Amino acid sequence: MRDKKIFIYAEDDCGKVNSAYFELLSKACEINKTIEAQDGAPAELCAVAVGAAGEEAMKSLVDSGADVVYNIKGSKLDVYNPSVFSEALTQLCKAEVPYIFLFGSTAQGTEIAPTLGVKLHTGVAAHCVDLRIDGEGAFVQDVPAFGGKVIGEIITPDTLPQIATVKPGLFQVTKLPSKAAKIVSFQPILDEVESGGIVLKEVHIKKRNSLPVDKAEVIICGGFGMGCDENWELLEKVANYFEKSAVGCTRPALDEDWAVDEGTMIGTSGKTVRPKLYIGAGISGAMHHVCGISDSDFIISINKDENAEIFKTSDLKIVGDAVRILTALEKRLSKE
Ligand SMILES: Cc1cc2nc3c(=O)[nH]c(=O)nc-3n(C[C@H](O)[C@H](O)[C@H](O)COP(=O)(O)OP(=O)(O)OC[C@H]3O[C@@H](n4cnc5c(N)ncnc54)[C@H](O)[C@@H]3O)c2cc1C
Repeated sequence: MRDKKIFIYAEDDCGKVNSAYFELLSKACEINKTIEAQDGAPAELCAVAVGAAGEEAMKSLVDSGADVVYNIKGSKLDVYNPSVFSEALTQLCKAEVPYIFLFGSTAQGTEIAPTLGVKLHTGVAAHCVDLRIDGEGAFVQDVPAFGGKVIGEIITPDTLPQIATVKPGLFQVTKLPSKAAKIVSFQPILDEVESGGIVLKEVHIKKRNSLPVDKAEVIICGGFGMGCDENWELLEKVANYFEKSAVGCTRPALDEDWAVDEGTMIGTSGKTVRPKLYIGAGISGAMHHVCGISDSDFIISINKDENAEIFKTSDLKIVGDAVRILTALEKRLSKE
């Protein structure tokens, strides 16, 4: 029997499995090679599905390359509720004692992971950008701070599971050998759990009006310098005046939740784009972002700092306040 188990939360996404699961499974598989080299046996890769996982979701989990699929069922688990879900997961963790538990930094993951951490008295590293096992066998969780300028290496040396959340879109999905995972049903005792508080009633998917960034010919990209959600709408407005356009973002803008979704992030951990025109507003020009835009035909950058790094890769440099300039541009375009 294998000693270690890596749990990966398989979040329901309108009847399908959220893409974060497949990304985390690929990363877990990579980590597992180090575990196998150090321990002589790999960890068991386990998908963890809570609630009424439908037939389609279960099939994709069984075929995903995991060794085991834990199917947690119970009368209170049909509808997402963070208190009930985290209690169900707590009971599973107490029974199975996973070594690592990975969650996507999704709406559910960011609620459940810290709640589980508190209930199990263990550490949680949130919004990790990389995960690895170091030479001493420690599970190292890289967490950026100060807009990505500093990377903190987090370890949880004394308690299990070691819980980490990762933004969807960061890790590449690799095709894993299919091996028909074993399904294990788990029925937690939830009679005493309060199922009030936050309850999922309906799902509204944010509509993306524009093309995917890697298909767009014109990209209006916003960075941390856009300042707030309301200013972000300006990017959408300006993009709407161009055909085959899309709004892109940098990581800090995504972390602030201004951007529509993680699929619009450009750079090392996001998309690489090659538009005819790229307009970047409030973007410093960090290498992690610039490497994703350097094949653009024409780059216009707006930054209030005349020495901003982004200007080195720009064909046209505009020094000034991005909100004022985009507002003026929008006004001008509306008259044409
Ligand atoms: C492993 C790793 C992977 C990463 N992957 C990515 C990635 O794929 N994509 C990505 O984008 N980042 C990525 N990052 C983060 C990256 O390193 C930078 O932190 C990020 O690109 C900076 O985003 P920003 O330019 O929006 O913010 P900041 O660096 O904070 O820059 C904001 C800029 O806005 C300007 N500004 C402020 N107010 C205004 C205003 N009113 N008008 C005009 N200008 C203004 C400022 O002068 C500044 O230059 C990654 C980091 C790590 C560690």
